[in-house]
Formats: sequence, C-alpha cells, structure tokens
Amino acid sequence: MHKKKRIALLGSTGSIGTQTLEVVKTYPDLFEISVLTANRNVDLLIEQALLFRPNVVVIVDEAGYEKANAALFEEGIKVYTGEEALAAVTEMDEVDIVLTALVGFSGLKPTIRAINAGKNIALANKETLVVAGEIISKLAIEKGVSIYPVDSEHSAIFQCLVGEERNPIEKIYLTASGGPFRGKKREDLLNTTKEQALKHPNWEMGAKITIDSASMMNKGLEVIEAKWLFNLRNDQIDVIVHPQSIVHSLVQFEDGSMKAQMGLPDMKLPIQYALTYPYRLKTDFERFNFLDYPNLTFEKADLETFTNLRLAYEVMEIGGNAPCILNAANEIAVAAFLKDEIKFLQLAEVNEKTIKGVDFIKHPTLDELYETDRQARLFAQKYIENL
Ligand code: MG
Repeated sequence: MHKKKRIALLGSTGSIGTQTLEVVKTYPDLFEISVLTANRNVDLLIEQALLFRPNVVVIVDEAGYEKANAALFEEGIKVYTGEEALAAVTEMDEVDIVLTALVGFSGLKPTIRAINAGKNIALANKETLVVAGEIISKLAIEKGVSIYPVDSEHSAIFQCLVGEERNPIEKIYLTASGGPFRGKKREDLLNTTKEQALKHPNWEMGAKITIDSASMMNKGLEVIEAKWLFNLRNDQIDVIVHPQSIVHSLVQFEDGSMKAQMGLPDMKLPIQYALTYPYRLKTDFERFNFLDYPNLTFEKADLETFTNLRLAYEVMEIGGNAPCILNAANEIAVAAFLKDEIKFLQLAEVNEKTIKGVDFIKHPTLDELYETDRQARLFAQKYIENL
C-alpha cells in the first residue's frame, strides 16, 4: 500500500482542477499527482506538471502536444495527446483515485474506463451521471468502485448520510442559489447578455456551469445526478432556492428529521472530502459567522421562468436516452449563447425542441448513448442555425 493517495486529475486547468491542486499542495503528505490532463490550456498544464511532477500528462488537443512534450520530456514526464489517451491514463497502476473535472459529455468515456479498471472516482463531472446514470451505477457496483461526489450539493447529502446506512431517505432537498437572475420573470430576461449571465453571486466557476446556473439547467442536471448517486425515486428529489448558499443541501429521514450540511461556500471542502472520506482534514478556511447571516432564506423555484429545471424533471421521468438528449442540446445551446448566437431564453427553447426532435430509446446501450449524443448535437445545431 502506498501511503499517499495517488490522483489522476482529469481537467486540471479548469476551476475544479486548479482548486484540487491547491488542496494537494496544502497536504503534500497525503496526496500526490500521478496524472494531469487538460483540453487546450497547454501553458498552465506545463506549469502544473513542473510543480506537481506527475508521471504522465495528456493534452487532449493535438495542437498543444509539441509544446508540452518539449517542455516536459527532459523532466521525465510523459506527454500524450488525444481522446483515447485521456481515457487510457485512468487505468494506470500508479492511480488510486480518478478525479474527473471534465466538462460535459467528454467525461463519460474516461469515467467508464476508470471504473472498469477498478479505480475509485471523485466525480465533479455531473453530465456523466446525467447521460448514463443507470449504466454507470450498475458498473460501479459490479466493479466494487466507489463514486464520491465533488459537486457541493451532493457532497452535502453524502456527508449527511454518514452513519445513516440503516435509515432510508424519505427525500432530499438540493439547495439552489437561484443565480444572478433570481426573482426575474421571462420578460425581464429578453435581452440578457452573457456578461450578466456569467456573474454568479456566490460561486466562482467555469463558463459552462456558470451559464447553467443562471438558466437553472445546473440544478436540473444535479437533480438527475442525485437520483443515480443516492439511488432515489424521482419524487424524492426536491429543489429549494436558498440565495445565501450556506445550507449546501439537506436530507429528510422517515421520522421527519432533517440533516443539513452547512458552511461558507468553498469548493475545496467538497473536493478534499471526496479525496479523504470518511476523514476530515483540518483547514484554515474562513469560518461561518452567524451574525454575518442573521437571515437564511428559502423560496420556491420558479419553473415558469427557468424552464430548464422543469425539462430536467421531465426527461428524468421519461428516462432512457432522454436525459442524454437534454444534456447534448444544452451543451450546444450554451456554446452558442457564449458566442452570442442565441439569446438567454433560447437556451431552454433549444433544449425543449431537441428533446422532441431526437428518437427516443427506452433502454439505450452505451453505443446508443454515443449515437444519441451525436444526433442531439446535430439537431440542436441545425435548430440554432434556422432561428
Ligand atoms: Mg453544484
């Protein structure tokens, strides 16, 4: 047994990736980095590799390969490129846990390869469970692999469930900050710009998830993620808007008792808990002060304005490849919104049309999910071009 936990960090240059490296740097006796991967940001990847000395890095975009290899070859750090390398590095012997902080559908294949290789997963890539929750949860059980949530809400639920193995969950409440447009109606959002949508009140995150938070798609994806992580029926998952983001989520048990996990919002906490479960590490994070928050408030989510959240419940109820269709449409819609090709309210419109426009499969295989993803992207892209 190795004393240090050896981490393959997929998506090391993004928001979760860089915060994970801060955690690793704080506890050098507990963690070491075996693998770093990045999509395109070759300069930051090189900088990280020189500092954390992984065995291997993957720069997925081939354009960055030569630069990375020139910088790291003499350092004894192997450099690979491409999608296949991204999946293959999760299987290496020198890896104890795979932290997947990839964005979107791209996280699916590496996660499946890692589970097949018997590696535990720290999951920040919620889209993987949205798209293929049933297949992934079955596979994880079959391979004896644990999936530790990194998403703050799911980490909260996970923390509330410690010691409750014999007690069934009655329901869970996922909290939502409501994002920058909480309280707004559709007519207020007609001319919303991406600059406004990119300003999240409480959390610093990457562009995709920040837009998803503004449109409530993020909470919708989290509802589906929670279903698979905690093996829940659809009617056991509720969303409550909580603008202060102090209560990170709650579990209600069959006696009516509720447990919440609370604290100032800082992603480093769920990241390190996923890496050290069931232990907690001493931190110097800023502590919560009640007097700074005399009022913690809660409101109903507005499904009329934020139709993405309603769509997520609908595709969860439909099942099959429907969540995969929604996810693919949404990835295309968010990319188009970030390029000013569609308006804010059209995010959900693209999603809704694509759900109706792509063939439904009740029990999709993995290959059928890849094909669904491809078709849904094409459909959404074409719909946007014809707007
Ligand atoms: Mg979250």
